[in-house]
Amino acid sequence: MADLPSVRITPGGERALARRHPWIFSGAIAAAPAGLASGDTVAICDSRRQALAIASWSPRSQIRARVWTFDPQAAIDPAFFRGRIDRAVAGRGNNAADPSGACRLIYGESDGLPGLIVDRYRDVLVCQFLAAGVERWRGEIVDQLWEALSPSSIYERSDVDVRSKEGLAEVTGLLRGEEPPDRLEIAEGSVRFSVDIRGGHKTGFYLDQRPNRERFLELARGARVLDVFSYTGGFALAALAGGAEQVVQIESSKSALEETRRQVELNGLDPQRLIQNEDNAFGDLRRLVKEEQRFDIVVLDPPKFVTSRSKLDAGARGYKDINRLAFHLLRPGGLLFTFSCSG
Ligand code: SAH
Repeated sequence: MADLPSVRITPGGERALARRHPWIFSGAIAAAPAGLASGDTVAICDSRRQALAIASWSPRSQIRARVWTFDPQAAIDPAFFRGRIDRAVAGRGNNAADPSGACRLIYGESDGLPGLIVDRYRDVLVCQFLAAGVERWRGEIVDQLWEALSPSSIYERSDVDVRSKEGLAEVTGLLRGEEPPDRLEIAEGSVRFSVDIRGGHKTGFYLDQRPNRERFLELARGARVLDVFSYTGGFALAALAGGAEQVVQIESSKSALEETRRQVELNGLDPQRLIQNEDNAFGDLRRLVKEEQRFDIVVLDPPKFVTSRSKLDAGARGYKDINRLAFHLLRPGGLLFTFSCSG
């Protein structure tokens, strides 16, 4: 695109870009015009001033630019966002539209929209704007979501600490349409969940775990299951609905455990098959190992242990500990579902 400010990158930055990595770190910037503002659209150029990509600029973040497109001729405008939204939604297949269901529609960088998360709960969309680029274009993005998907509301849950790394404040509230209800009931196959989009974690629920919950449900028949860092029991519910013999939850939050019991009731499942340990997972896992308890399936879905480089060693030790303990708790042939959201 003509007349965009151009930012020159180092050979190392060029190599990352050639691999289609959408982030340009501050150390890879060789030269940039003075006075670029947060969210400005820039052309990314190599040492011969050849344009390689178009990106959004974020002056405060170590991730100084995020690529919108590797086509240097493309225009960044409402039609661009519409194209990316339509492509993402098509990629979600049947899950995108099923009227009583919920699914993640837009997965940020993976859908070519760096920093944008859009989750759909029935006909309510919940968005997170997590980077300077999508923040700059939020109005156009909301317009295009509204036109493309005809939701009843678009709600924002940008109450996420990574926004501070972009120099952005946390924001929540209605973006378009009617105020969503306090509780939304969604169905994932045979399992129903009641979701609080204003107060629940992230956009209200861990929708990114949906495919894993579905797999979990299929494997749970007759199993003794341990759900560690369970929150409101997404995995526990899937296991009970899938016919697990018993599910043990470990979770330090009392309200999350109470919420799980409400979800068990909502689904008409047998509360006797659910055991709740309101405890610190590290200690409780050790106790279970000591008692020589055994499970057919263990799930570990902890919060982010590594929040910055300085937490790397301690975080890695945490992951090692819980995974080692989980192996001790598995029956021969048992299954471990293990997750990390440290990036
Ligand atoms: N598996 C859940 C999401 C887990 S979020 C789902 O699919 O919905 C991480 C959870 O771990 C939070 O609910 C938090 O309260 C809990 N948690 C954090 N640290 C903990 C600890 N040390 N012991 C037990 N639970 C902990």
